[in-house]
Amino acid sequence: MLSWRRPISFVNARVVLPDGGASSIRVGARVLDIDAKPATNDLVVDLGGSFVLPGLVNAHDHLELNHYGRLKRRDRYDNASEWIEDLRPALQGDPAIRENTAHPLGARLFIGGLKNLLAGTTTVAHHNPFYREFGRRFPVRVVKRYGWAHSLSLERQAVGAHGEPGGDVRGRYAGTPASAPFMVHVGEGIDRAAAEELLALEALGCLGRNTVLVHGVALGPADWERVMARGAGLVWCPASNAFLFRRTAQVRQFLDASEASSAHICLGSDSRVTGARDLLDELRAAAAVMPITPRELFRMVTTTPARMLRLPDAGRIAIGGPADLVVLPSTKTDPADALLAASRRDLSLVLIDGHPLVGSPAFEAVFGARRATTRPIGLDGAERVAESTLARTIAKCPIKEPGVETF
Ligand SMILES: [Zn+2]
Repeated sequence: MLSWRRPISFVNARVVLPDGGASSIRVGARVLDIDAKPATNDLVVDLGGSFVLPGLVNAHDHLELNHYGRLKRRDRYDNASEWIEDLRPALQGDPAIRENTAHPLGARLFIGGLKNLLAGTTTVAHHNPFYREFGRRFPVRVVKRYGWAHSLSLERQAVGAHGEPGGDVRGRYAGTPASAPFMVHVGEGIDRAAAEELLALEALGCLGRNTVLVHGVALGPADWERVMARGAGLVWCPASNAFLFRRTAQVRQFLDASEASSAHICLGSDSRVTGARDLLDELRAAAAVMPITPRELFRMVTTTPARMLRLPDAGRIAIGGPADLVVLPSTKTDPADALLAASRRDLSLVLIDGHPLVGSPAFEAVFGARRATTRPIGLDGAERVAESTLARTIAKCPIKEPGVETF
């Protein structure tokens, strides 16, 4: 009897639904009910008006690269390939970089997963091979069904953790089922080569409804028309772009070009080699660089990436869907405003599949009801509890996540 996991009824909540809201939600591994009375066996948790948001979707990361810190050797580049060439000697010669590369891949990927989890990101699109280390115990969901190539400029060069090549773009696209997303960098730069890439991609037959273009710094208005005409989409990584090029994609213009555009542009943090600390910081970077509204940004980390990545269960709260949830204090009236103001230490609770993974000590009872034991951790100076296995993995990991303490 005691081994049963009890459902949780979050009441006095502001549950954020795709079309509107609700004041309570019942969850097991899945969302059991919305705006329904708690059942007899439920643990009832009064949220005091906090928001319940869907777990966020990060549409672009390279999960094994999040422990190096930001890397560049020049103030600004004209093309990502120039940056990579510039870094190549350091990748071989710099002792700190070599040490970071020498860590086991599982540990490197774990830090990438942890970075996302702590920021309320429950689903991540990893741009590289799907490594076997994304096993059952990986901290977040990693999109599993996808095709990828790095970019037209790095087809034969090593880009993966085991030196896997960037890949023949045309061949890889042709080998990707139409029902799976195909991820590829395009226009990652501000030079002529970057500006010509979208047309080249289209000429190769690689611009289709399932094409997920990443970066698009060099895309102009005519390029965007082509992207929309083909039904493709763009992952915007403003912090990464600003770091490398002091420029980013013309997302405001693209959104204004047609009402349909908003279903084709989402946000990605990229890895910390160039990007922001996490997706929450990336949201703020996006808002700082051009006038994108909080609600537009909210869509870019929930429903739009779910659509583009062909994940019908992600990015929204629905009865029967997985209980991938984030509890966030309602510091603002609008949930999108509250999310935009939040850092990872502000999140009260993160659940994946109804498993509480990290949260405020005030939610200890939720862990207990789901038969999870906890350990205290420190997160950017705030007291938190983490599910024990997760806390142990953090403590044992040879790579330390800045801002996270274990005891
Ligand atoms: Zn990438």
